[in-house]
Amino acid sequence: MSRIDLHTHTTFSDGSFSPTELIDLADQKGLDILAITDHDTTEGLPEALKAAKNLSLELIPGIELSAQFHNREMHILGYFINLNDSQFQARLEALRSTRIERIHHILDRLHSLGMDIPLKDVEHVSGIGTIGRPHIAQVLIAKGYVTSMKDAFEQFLGSRGKAYVQRVVPEAHEIIAWITEAGGIPVLAHPYWEGFNKEESATACQTLVAQGLQGLEVFYGTFSARHISFNLGLARRFDLLMTGGSDFHGTLKPGITLGKGRGSLHVPSKVVERLRIAAGF
Ligand SMILES: [Zn+2]
Ligand SMILES: [Zn+2]
Repeated sequence: MSRIDLHTHTTFSDGSFSPTELIDLADQKGLDILAITDHDTTEGLPEALKAAKNLSLELIPGIELSAQFHNREMHILGYFINLNDSQFQARLEALRSTRIERIHHILDRLHSLGMDIPLKDVEHVSGIGTIGRPHIAQVLIAKGYVTSMKDAFEQFLGSRGKAYVQRVVPEAHEIIAWITEAGGIPVLAHPYWEGFNKEESATACQTLVAQGLQGLEVFYGTFSARHISFNLGLARRFDLLMTGGSDFHGTLKPGITLGKGRGSLHVPSKVVERLRIAAGF
């Protein structure tokens, strides 16, 4: 039985492990197949591929992109993308610059609330990776304005927080097209279907499939058995690929273990076989 995790983050986005450290951890834990799916970037993958070179661990290149759908934000994973696709990389670069604009706006709001967070401090925390709200949270914690990541998001950075600024992201059909045009397989990440009832979820899924979506992340680190079986039903109904992963962020998302999620994650091997065939590998 293979041990598989197809959803993980490194220091190139908002994970706490570098690509090399993550590969080492996956190897120590006896994982057979790992995908790295950093937000808005594939820049951690060359280091990870190098680190995995002499191991039996197979690394699948991936990415996680945010998209708008019916005024909600959803995340779409892309697997087996051609990393050297220059059009795709230019699109990612543009996405990353909208992230920096948003960070500026959030810091302005925090400033008006009496909290002085210099951009350079946030950049220092994010390091080489894609900058995001968890990095602001870390500075807020370090400066004593909040006590934890959860506190930072509840009070200030989350969608109900006082310094929240919505990020304008492309529509789902655009993100699906970007991934497909770069040779990748677009898969809806953690389909919670928030704000949709059962019937609306099926309609939403059908619309996304018509837009080119090819898979659902059925097996997710924090999903209940009931939620898994709901998504499994949708995947079967619309003849979609299934994927699964923990959404591991290291110490930045406590309680989630690589390859195991909250403990019960199990991604069947046939999932990867089908994904590979769909991608032409
Ligand atoms: Zn996500
Ligand atoms: Zn993720």
